[in-house]
Amino acid sequence: MIVLLLAACATVQARTVAIDVGHFDEEPGTTSARGRVELEFNRELALEIESAARGRGLGSMLIGADGRMTLLSHRITAAKGADFFLSVHHDSAQPQFLQAWKYEGVPRLFSDQFAGYSLFVSRKNPRRGPSLACASAIGAELRRAGFAPSLYHADPIPGESKPFADRVNGVHYYDNLVVLRSARVPAVLLEAGVIVNREEETRMLSADTRRRIAAAVADGLDRCMPGRIR
Ligand SMILES: [Zn+2]
Repeated sequence: MIVLLLAACATVQARTVAIDVGHFDEEPGTTSARGRVELEFNRELALEIESAARGRGLGSMLIGADGRMTLLSHRITAAKGADFFLSVHHDSAQPQFLQAWKYEGVPRLFSDQFAGYSLFVSRKNPRRGPSLACASAIGAELRRAGFAPSLYHADPIPGESKPFADRVNGVHYYDNLVVLRSARVPAVLLEAGVIVNREEETRMLSADTRRRIAAAVADGLDRCMPGRIR
């Protein structure tokens, strides 16, 4: 009986996801076409992913939601005990593609040239294989839900050139990204959508889109993480 209980606990523990809210108050990431900072998009989506993950029987811990986690190394420390690290971000484009416009009278920058989600893994993460397996599973579920990979991060230009790990599912290698490289567990970074794209920003602001992305991400994690109990 005790053995069975321990086995059950081990199974549950093997399915805890650390959901990292990318950026912090002083450096809130990119600014959307209409002037909203990335941190706010990241926080809203991370909360939705947490809820979807719990709904599928996964354990979760939310990291950096208060906007005060300034050091990347603290995020890794805070994820201690988790079995997977997912960093949640929203995307921009290289500066040469940004154009000026005004929104509500305020000068802003946008690029409608790029759209879609991207996933990143590091070959320097000690759990490279499971990282890629989960990134591919998340990408496959996002595609099934009607989202398309952005693909432009593989373009051979300065700032991009991130080779495909799984082109079909929109997964790139980004070996030196600190949170991916430093995590002791399988780790994936999600760029959920391009918020300098005016149309995509509007989509990303909708609660329905957020729920659909979160459901796809949670389905992918549920599928790829070991110890599935249902
Ligand atoms: Zn970011």
